[in-house]
Amino acid sequence: MSMQEYMDKAERYVLHTYNRFPVVLERGEGVYLYDTEGRRYLDFAAGIAVFALGYKNEVFNRALKNQIDKVIHTSNLYYNVPMAMAAEKLAAASGMDKVFFTNSGTEAVEGAIKAARKYAWMKDGGTDHEIIAMKNSFHGRSLGALSVTGNTHYQEPFKPLIGGIRFADFNDLESVRSRVTDRTCAVILETVQGEGGIYPADPAFLQGMRELCDERDILLILDEIQCGMGRTGEWFAWQGYGVKPDIMTTAKALGCGVPVGAFVLNKKTAEASLVPGDHGTTYGGNPLACAAVSAVFDQYEKKNLLEHVREIAPYLEKRLDELTENSEFVTARRGKGLMQGLVIREKTVGQVVNEALSAGLLVISAGSDVLRLVPPLVITEENVDEMIEILQKCL
Ligand SMILES: *Cc1c(COP(=O)(O)O)cnc(C)c1O
Repeated sequence: MSMQEYMDKAERYVLHTYNRFPVVLERGEGVYLYDTEGRRYLDFAAGIAVFALGYKNEVFNRALKNQIDKVIHTSNLYYNVPMAMAAEKLAAASGMDKVFFTNSGTEAVEGAIKAARKYAWMKDGGTDHEIIAMKNSFHGRSLGALSVTGNTHYQEPFKPLIGGIRFADFNDLESVRSRVTDRTCAVILETVQGEGGIYPADPAFLQGMRELCDERDILLILDEIQCGMGRTGEWFAWQGYGVKPDIMTTAKALGCGVPVGAFVLNKKTAEASLVPGDHGTTYGGNPLACAAVSAVFDQYEKKNLLEHVREIAPYLEKRLDELTENSEFVTARRGKGLMQGLVIREKTVGQVVNEALSAGLLVISAGSDVLRLVPPLVITEENVDEMIEILQKCL
């Protein structure tokens, strides 16, 4: 079938909830993806900050194939080997204590919200606890995760959402402080806001949040779904701030394409929140997903990926800064590590993304005017140069 025929078929049978770019991607190798007609694309989107290892990583693929031949699913009624291994590695990387595996980032956020409410309920028996979330944030599309997503456009048609959510301004400690009440049980934020337009937290803001939460026994939930798993050169972005959350959510690169997420609790929260009967999932922590997580951690270590990100990120920033200086269409660069955004003016971001696609480069947008670059973590300086060359032409 031709690419157009696949697209027509998809449009005929798949619910139209995305305006997809006109390309059918079929296979990948390293940092390149290929469409069904054999055209090659340099991938600076990585499936939305997912495929950190690059495509067709043989060790990773072999680990998955081996697990498929053993067992794919057994349920949470029994123990399985990959779950134990993966949980140990995630706990070690985060320096936190207990892991609950989910099937997506959204579900990790749901679990984090439930854990926070349960923690507060165990403290005072109240059923009217509040959560402070950030304007311009993104935490997912289910009703709980949507309720803490600070985007009225996403929320409005689906109201009523869960109650007790107050929105504060990101990077404004006073704004958060003024929304704290005796009922506040948690504050949730992305360490680096992703969908909202690539805004890293200010160190003083995050440190202030930690102090505020400690003062009032409020749980600090950091959503690391996009900015975690090495993207900023640390396992998790908060490790670069010297601030530790009580609950962390992760997903996206955690399974490098296999659908898996997790929320991770510190000891204090783990010991006084969810117990058997409170929360569950059929698939979460399944052997195939956890074999992926385990192999991802092994490959990061083997390839020294955190160090690689720390080395390559300054080069990416330098080239993007040059581009910003030389292009009338780019007004600013923001970001951390391999999570970068270019603020576009005059042209629409959609236009630039489309032109880049035609020129063989995959990039995505964030917010209304930001071009987002979240490449596989294995990119080289040559890949950066190639990206810049294509982007320069498009701009
Ligand atoms: C992508 C994302 C989510 C949602 O994750 P899904 O796997 O799409 O459910 C939540 N929070 C942040 C910060 C994200 O980037």
